[in-house]
Amino acid sequence: MKNFTVSDKFEGGNIIVDKIEGNDVYIKPDFRDSNPWFSWAMKVEGANGLKLNFNVERPIVGRFGPQATVGYFGPAVSHDLKTWKWLYPENPVTEMDELYHFTYQFGENEDCVYFAHHMVYNVCNFDFDKQYGLEIKELCKDVDGTSCPYVTFGEGDKVILLTSRHHACEAPASYVLHGAMQELIENPLDGFKIICVPFVDVRGVVKGDQGKGRLPHDHNRDYNYDEPSIYPTVKAIKEIVKNNPIKYSFDFHDPMSAGSDKICIVNHGGHWEQEDQRLSELYANLSAEYDGAFKHVQGSITRIKTIPGMFSTYVGEDPRVRYATTIEAPYYGCPENMMTEESYKKSGRAFANAIRQLIKEIDK
Ligand SMILES: [Zn+2]
Repeated sequence: MKNFTVSDKFEGGNIIVDKIEGNDVYIKPDFRDSNPWFSWAMKVEGANGLKLNFNVERPIVGRFGPQATVGYFGPAVSHDLKTWKWLYPENPVTEMDELYHFTYQFGENEDCVYFAHHMVYNVCNFDFDKQYGLEIKELCKDVDGTSCPYVTFGEGDKVILLTSRHHACEAPASYVLHGAMQELIENPLDGFKIICVPFVDVRGVVKGDQGKGRLPHDHNRDYNYDEPSIYPTVKAIKEIVKNNPIKYSFDFHDPMSAGSDKICIVNHGGHWEQEDQRLSELYANLSAEYDGAFKHVQGSITRIKTIPGMFSTYVGEDPRVRYATTIEAPYYGCPENMMTEESYKKSGRAFANAIRQLIKEIDK
């Protein structure tokens, strides 16, 4: 048997290799300092010409039970860590009990292939400096010295704050944010300045951490009015909120693995019910109009109780804020509404235009 290696030594990498027996590779997500979660990303080198079977152990996540580690369309596959494709988009597997394994035939010239639970979006993917000439500035340094980037654009005395990756592993949401950013740069919103912090847990993004359920609490539980935050990037965002007239705020996330297949708007504790409903209606109509966009289904609203320390709760309590919400974009979608880099970016454009329309209606 030819020697090949499986590792997570790259930006966003995360894997534990349990054992390799012939052509069978047994792996699992590395939780590190987080509660059990299902994100993983690995690099396989030197497997040219081999056909390997990968078994990815399914973690048990609290009351939600065993989670899928391989999506309906197989793992996401990349050769450059920049663009990703599903392994079998045409032949989805939807039986929950099968969502943990896949087989890959390596070509003779495939020296290095990346596989992941979902399409990864690393810091280099946020290339608004190259694509749009925006200056990527440093918000602060994270605990390990990693630079946390942010950008601003647009002119106006009101501010929209866009954030993502409070949970490091939630990369698909970044594609939606990316599309929303493109739309708002190309067609500016009159009277608004936009501040975007794309990687709140930037250290976790670079290291490939789960981030969700990080202990003692994760970045999306680190916003309290009365207590100091433990993460430097959260402290810096609190400063942004304090020092800028934030009127609207949108935070991009991903939900659980298989079974959470719709893009949902999160309603926090019944607050802004009307705005959430209207945003959902606008977003559904606009995403239906975009050819190839991931469709938002009207009324896909997840209701959660108000949780102290959550970013959206924190911003929402600021009396200057007119509307704040969270959106959750699924890791895979479903066979008739599939997540791809392109479908998510187009869906992000539709979301930006839904925001534009909503603001026109409610901004006084
Ligand atoms: Zn999240």
